[in-house]
Amino acid sequence: MNTENAVEGEEELSIMYVSLSVVTCDKCDEPMEKGQKILVIAEGLIMNSNEELDFAGYSVRYACHLGCWDGVEDIGYLISSN
Ligand SMILES: [Zn+2]
Repeated sequence: MNTENAVEGEEELSIMYVSLSVVTCDKCDEPMEKGQKILVIAEGLIMNSNEELDFAGYSVRYACHLGCWDGVEDIGYLISSN
């Protein structure tokens, strides 16, 4: 499955940079490489809440290719096996 879309024309994105220690997709186990769109589920803290939320992420719980995402976060086994 390949769901590459051009980003041109979209509104200015606010970019959040995160370093991941796992480099493979949690869905298909294939490497996640430069230029690919991915989905990350991050755990963190709301630092400020006004009209917008300032979010400080400190842990990535899940990461997969955007095209692999099926709406299910398979992290139950990670929690129960540790
Ligand atoms: Zn994948």
